[in-house]
Amino acid sequence: MFELIVATQNAHKLDEIRPLLGNRPVQLKSLAEFETIPDIIENGKTFEENAAIKAEICFNAFKQPVFADDSGLEVPSLQNAPGIFSARYAGEHANHRANNMLLLENMKPFTGEERKARFVSTICYMDNSEQYFFTGITEGLILEHLQGSEGFGYDPLFYLPEINKTFAELSLEEKNRYSHRGKSVRQFIDFLDKRLLKKT
Ligand code: IMP
Repeated sequence: MFELIVATQNAHKLDEIRPLLGNRPVQLKSLAEFETIPDIIENGKTFEENAAIKAEICFNAFKQPVFADDSGLEVPSLQNAPGIFSARYAGEHANHRANNMLLLENMKPFTGEERKARFVSTICYMDNSEQYFFTGITEGLILEHLQGSEGFGYDPLFYLPEINKTFAELSLEEKNRYSHRGKSVRQFIDFLDKRLLKKT
């Protein structure tokens, strides 16, 4: 069994990643399973830098293969905010609801195409001194109200015109089909299959 540390305490992320691995002999371990975890200060300027910081700190602490995903929502009308600050848009300890309310407020001046947004997920995988990156992007629109109760974060505001639904109206499996994280994780799994599990 290949043990992979997922550098997150967000159970939702783990729930999304796990089914994508199918029956591969990979055991995911989240940081929530460790008694002591290193301090991680995400002070990078990009999703890549932050994913690399998380991967490196966890790799140095546990000396085991690490998977770190840094993700967020970029809204061009807001100069790509909340971006790398997505988790703490409404303040350092803000919850998802407060972040969503602030986003709704800041989007008030915008209509139609000006409400375009994209979710970005960048994974950094590290199992020695080398780091490998995988990025997935999904484009959508920010709704004017919350819609749906599945998922987490900005899911109830992120609307996909092609299926006429928000991320929060999708099952895990459906969200993975369209989401930024589904896309980045599938690229990572491809890499895993070729390099580590030696599948063709
Ligand atoms: P991270 O844990 O530092 O990568 O921060 C991710 C933050 O971006 C989350 O707390 C959410 O606010 C937002 N985010 C990332 N991916 C998603 C998603 O799939 N749905 C909704 N919000 C997301």
